[in-house]
Amino acid sequence: MPELPEVENTVRDLQEAGIVGTRIVATTISWPRSVGGDADAFSLRIRGLTLAAIKRRGKFVVLQFDDDIVGLLHLRMSGRLSVEPSGSNAGTHDRVTLGFATGLELRFHDPRKFGRLLLYSVAEAEQILERLGVEPFNSAEFTLETIAHRISGRRRRIKPLLLDQRVVAGLGNIYADESLWEAGIHPARTAASLRKSEIEALVAAIPTVLGRAVAAGGTSLGAGHSNHRLPSGRSSEGWQGLHVYGRAGTVCTRCGAEIIRTVLSQRSAHYCPRCQPEARISGVLLDMDGTMVETERVLIRSFQQAAQEWGLRLADEDLLATIGKTAAASREILCGLLGTLVSFETCSKRAEQLAAEVIAQQGIARRPGLDEFLDELSRRSIPYAVATSTHRQEAEYVLAQAGIRDKFNAIVCGDEVTNGKPAPEIYHRAAAQLGLEARNCLAIEDSEPGIRAASAAGAHAILIPNLVQPTPTARVAAARVCITIAEVTELLREGAITFDA
Ligand SMILES: [Zn+2]
Repeated sequence: MPELPEVENTVRDLQEAGIVGTRIVATTISWPRSVGGDADAFSLRIRGLTLAAIKRRGKFVVLQFDDDIVGLLHLRMSGRLSVEPSGSNAGTHDRVTLGFATGLELRFHDPRKFGRLLLYSVAEAEQILERLGVEPFNSAEFTLETIAHRISGRRRRIKPLLLDQRVVAGLGNIYADESLWEAGIHPARTAASLRKSEIEALVAAIPTVLGRAVAAGGTSLGAGHSNHRLPSGRSSEGWQGLHVYGRAGTVCTRCGAEIIRTVLSQRSAHYCPRCQPEARISGVLLDMDGTMVETERVLIRSFQQAAQEWGLRLADEDLLATIGKTAAASREILCGLLGTLVSFETCSKRAEQLAAEVIAQQGIARRPGLDEFLDELSRRSIPYAVATSTHRQEAEYVLAQAGIRDKFNAIVCGDEVTNGKPAPEIYHRAAAQLGLEARNCLAIEDSEPGIRAASAAGAHAILIPNLVQPTPTARVAAARVCITIAEVTELLREGAITFDA
């Protein structure tokens, strides 16, 4: 798909093609939707106009005519322009042809038919172009100030934000990926998590990357239909300027790590996991039940057992797994199942009693991989705290039983902050006890309410689902879903998460 460098080169070629300053005398439109649907109205309006100038704004080719008319042309997926002598063979995908008095034709070739050439008054065109974001190429307005103003504090991920034409005009998938690599920023980072120095690096990277691509004539990728060719016929196939885009599985030219392809907001994204760490953080906040210790498994088994004492078989593991979560719906289902025989409260009290007995006999198991993870943090002198909505007394007991009570720099419990509910304040307070802000911390959680609360506090939240499949909303709120703690340790070792002192 043509982006700013391809459009810029298209415009440069057209400026030299001998059509500026001449009058349109003929039109051929084989696909009316390319000109807004009404081929006759379009032809009537454009015939006789003189093309005064050709410019670019974002990804738009701006055709300035006399008589207060502006044509805005967007190439979209597969559009391409060429200038040919009139009478030469028309291509099968030529949707619009403008014949000039000099005997040349401007042809809009568009196999996939998404491109548009629409006519406006000067005032209308200005209104449309004003809605576009900052112009990033050869533009005095592309500064740290203007970009910081548009992205600072926003919870959207940086890559989709860069693709939003209302923020920066002209970037598409290729150059957004390349600019993020150049600036060392992971595409999934939220804009709010970027430091000033990182925004500075990005503001420097975008014009640099675009400038290199413009100089090379743009990028031409793939075979056949996706190749972009310029009006003059020159092509940049073979340009070796891309570092990440389309290079998944090859090595990073800067550090040698393997380039990764992922999907963000339904678009592909390419990055180097070492040059573009997912998170830069200073401390770690860990949830307790389910995340570090296996108490929830014990509780669930106990719940099953308690229900059995009343002759009820609650074998549905997924359903039981929601006990202790805030899913009101599943609680209702359970109440329905238990019926009048026994209330949910009675059953869950009995389950807690049984769980306490199991814990007293067998102790509390740490989640596999926890010890290695905490060792890795200690080895790197990274402070970590417990941030849990569990009550103090219970937390102290569980942590002591699991043999990890003394490992933590701080323990913040829900009853002391939010009356036992998962809420952002817990993470704010736990981070403060480490001398940090929540947004500089990595929060590890096993449940959706915890993930939502940690994310709302601005922490980089990783979800390690316990027994329940993570819901789509939890996936969205989490920066990443890991299946085991060992995976988080691996991210650390790979440098996907880097720690600031
Ligand atoms: Zn690299």
